[in-house]
Amino acid sequence: MNDAPDWRGYYKEMKDTAPLVIHYPLCGGGEECIFVCPFSDKIWEVVPMKVSLFGVKYKVRLRPFMVNPENCRKCYICVQACPTGALRPVERPVKHPALVFLYNSLKLPFKKKYGLKFVFREEHGERFRRNNWPEKYEVV
Ligand code: SF4
Repeated sequence: MNDAPDWRGYYKEMKDTAPLVIHYPLCGGGEECIFVCPFSDKIWEVVPMKVSLFGVKYKVRLRPFMVNPENCRKCYICVQACPTGALRPVERPVKHPALVFLYNSLKLPFKKKYGLKFVFREEHGERFRRNNWPEKYEVV
């Protein structure tokens, strides 16, 4: 697992092949996107990559990646459910990560759908812990 690639490789692959792109240093790893996607089994996987969590400690973590982007219907439900703004349509990528993070954090308590209650559901907490500290959970 220590030879996992840097996040930029996955970012570039999605940018080149998918309708969505993930700015991985902003991704919390709670898998909110995968939970809401109606076709998640046919599109998404979580893969090991080296990345920081909101700029803290660069190391191997598990993160969502579109392995079959051709199955995406571009409904953007997953983009709405992303609590940090890391997941975006490919034509509107994150340009200022700190501002995007601040904006989405401030917005979260006021979101009618996919707000704080959604983010703090037990299943997202469990994925957050496993995906950010996979070594403790002996996932790979
Ligand atoms: S845009 Fe819709 S179909 Fe595509 S990955 Fe997101 S939720 Fe799934």
